[in-house]
Amino acid sequence: MASHVECRPLGVFECELCTLTAPYSYVGQKPPNTQSMVLLEESYVMKDPFTSDKDRFLVLGSCCSLCSRLVCVGPMFLEGSPGEGTVLS
Ligand SMILES: [Zn+2]
Repeated sequence: MASHVECRPLGVFECELCTLTAPYSYVGQKPPNTQSMVLLEESYVMKDPFTSDKDRFLVLGSCCSLCSRLVCVGPMFLEGSPGEGTVLS
């Protein structure tokens, strides 16, 4: 598995409840380049476009466990610093 996310989007995340769309670069529970961070749910993640810090990710959204629709979570920044625990709840 490649550990580079960089700027190559896998696809475009589209929220089914609002009009939010954004390219994502990773789907899953453990974004690359983060050491101890594990998300509770499989999430759509993109590299934070606002910083050059490789360890900063932006969670776009995830699949709702109740209605299984793709929904955005609002802006949520993740930092892959060691010791950082679960961020999504
Ligand atoms: Zn939304």
